[in-house]
Amino acid sequence: MQTAEKHVKESTQKAWNKRPLIISGPCSAETEEQVIETAQRLAATGKVDMLRAGIWKPRTKPGMFEGVGAKGLPWLQQAKKITGLPTTVEVATGKQVQDALTFDVDVLWIGARTTVNPFSVQEVADALRGVDVPVLIKNPINPDLELWSGAVERVARAGVKQIGLIHRGFHTYGNTEYRNAPMWHLAIEMKRRNPELPIINDPSHICGRRDILKDVSQRAIDLDFDGLMIESHIDPDKAWSDAKQQITPEVLAEMLDSIIWRKEDINSEEYHAALEKLRQQINHLDDELMQILGQRMKIAEKIGEYKRDNKITILQTNRWNEILERAFKKGDNLNLSHEFITKYFDAVHMESINHQKKVLDA
Ligand code: PEP
Ligand code: MN
Repeated sequence: MQTAEKHVKESTQKAWNKRPLIISGPCSAETEEQVIETAQRLAATGKVDMLRAGIWKPRTKPGMFEGVGAKGLPWLQQAKKITGLPTTVEVATGKQVQDALTFDVDVLWIGARTTVNPFSVQEVADALRGVDVPVLIKNPINPDLELWSGAVERVARAGVKQIGLIHRGFHTYGNTEYRNAPMWHLAIEMKRRNPELPIINDPSHICGRRDILKDVSQRAIDLDFDGLMIESHIDPDKAWSDAKQQITPEVLAEMLDSIIWRKEDINSEEYHAALEKLRQQINHLDDELMQILGQRMKIAEKIGEYKRDNKITILQTNRWNEILERAFKKGDNLNLSHEFITKYFDAVHMESINHQKKVLDA
């Protein structure tokens, strides 16, 4: 294979190892001038470690701009020559891997629409066999950690030694504040499962708009992410793809300046990161509790139907005492006070009765 002897360059390795790792550049390479000017303005900020650009763009509908294709690769080579910034490109097929490596792209990334498809991931992985190039793997579009892990495994089994993760949020149906919901707890869980892999955040594709980029970036840094990938453009409103979420290199620099990276005191920074992680875990558990409570009420409604059909009263004191007695016993082992258990079960029980009553009234 023509690419078999390639090794990671020292400059690429240095960028890859840098914390926080900041990757920026346009959603899409559009013209040679645009790529080079973006790279120069990013390099001038002194805050960017790697240049990104989409060459092949996976678009939802045909007829949208699908990227300039391989002819954009020499533009990136030129941008690197001028600025010294290592480059990174999204690859989705074996041929794209070959083309990117032929033109010296330093780091490859697998996009969210590719991570969902094991055939495509395998094809990319096969093309990477015997090549020493770092690969970043975005989370799949749907919130499925197994698919994400599967992609990591396929690429690792092909012999790729340096793998990183990109958290770019997950698709949800309908309008939300975000273009892709961050679901932070999933990124945290992925990190917990793969502590050796760096994980960077892509606020651009999470937000889909400029005004909340900073907040999402700060949140990622508070959660101890290893870096950020943020889209930038010399004239964002005129970008050929993802115009709403791109910012100029200068705005990017200001934003990076406004982020609180590290407190002077190392302990307080660790404390902050640890606290954020624990809060996300609590949010996750609270979500699960709500789900479970919802399920509990559904069962209560079923019981209501039986009682209705058999003409039995809703409130049965014996049953209620039995529930409380059970809960006190369990609660003792879980360190939950009788006062709390009584209040909690009163609330749950009242809600349950209301649900059963709805069935009777229906
Ligand atoms: C991109 O980075 O421009 C891109 C297409 O991202 P994603 O795969 O996260 O949608
Ligand atoms: Mn984009």
